[in-house]
Amino acid sequence: MKILVTVKRVEDPESKIKVKPDGSGIVTDGINYKVNPFDEIAVEEALRLKDAHGGEVVVLSVGGSETTAEIRSALAMGGDRGVLVKTAGIVGADVASRLIQKVVEEESPDLVLMGKQAVDDDQGQAGQRLAERLGWALATQASKRASLESDEEKAKKPGLEFDGSALKVTREVDGGLEDLSLSLPAVVTCDLRLNQPRYASLPGIMKAKKKELKEIDAGGLGVALDEPVKVLGLKPPPERAGGEIVPDVPTLVAKLKSEAKVL
Ligand SMILES: Cc1cc2nc3c(=O)[nH]c(=O)nc-3n(C[C@H](O)[C@H](O)[C@H](O)COP(=O)(O)OP(=O)(O)OC[C@H]3O[C@@H](n4cnc5c(N)ncnc54)[C@H](O)[C@@H]3O)c2cc1C
Repeated sequence: MKILVTVKRVEDPESKIKVKPDGSGIVTDGINYKVNPFDEIAVEEALRLKDAHGGEVVVLSVGGSETTAEIRSALAMGGDRGVLVKTAGIVGADVASRLIQKVVEEESPDLVLMGKQAVDDDQGQAGQRLAERLGWALATQASKRASLESDEEKAKKPGLEFDGSALKVTREVDGGLEDLSLSLPAVVTCDLRLNQPRYASLPGIMKAKKKELKEIDAGGLGVALDEPVKVLGLKPPPERAGGEIVPDVPTLVAKLKSEAKVL
């Protein structure tokens, strides 16, 4: 099975994000970048599917030259080769999906695995837009029935079941789980409970340096690079007011009734 897996370079979700005083973006000084956490799950799933069924894992990213670092991270986990579609910087979900579509048409994978959303803008749109453009089957928020602590998880079995023709996907929906059967080729976006991504080993990091990483200039792909959705401005959330210590429960209840009006 040939699997194309997408990785986006995002601000480290553990960093403290500050909005610029003019609201035009975030302060990037001192911010670390890493692979979008949902994409690490997609990479792990691609590697498990390859272990179970054979094939190839191609890691794709869209971004500036610095994005090769995130592609190499995925190659260090075990991806076979990388493709970078070079843009002037990070692009939105619509442009990203158009550029990814071009690479998918060139590579003809059986399956595209993506994160369910990128944690920098939380749009959760790229997978849906890509599947629509390709006319392929789509499953979003792929999850797993077994707990991440289970023996099955410890045995590193894939959460997506492939029987040679159909791909069985369990997805998280409001109030439960939904089972889907997809014919390939398909796009699947991955949720938190699908697997526990592996850490790259030292030999893996060394090998990744020598793996093929093809760079394609986005300008040559015939895709309009102007964003249909523009961010007009960012605002930090209002400062939290300080808490208050009350002497006893009756005072607390009275305050919840009269001040907070939640009772
Ligand atoms: C595990 C889990 C955690 C989540 N956590 C959060 C969270 O923290 N924050 C958050 O905001 N959301 C969260 N969500 C998402 C949220 O609960 C809803 O699932 C989501 O907003 C709805 O998207 P959908 O694709 O499921 O619905 P859809 O079925 O795609 O519906 C989306 C909208 O499309 C329109 N629509 C759909 N069908 C029709 C129709 N036939 N006619 C007219 N209009 C239609 C309606 O306006 C509808 O509200 C979570 C979901 C899950 C499963």
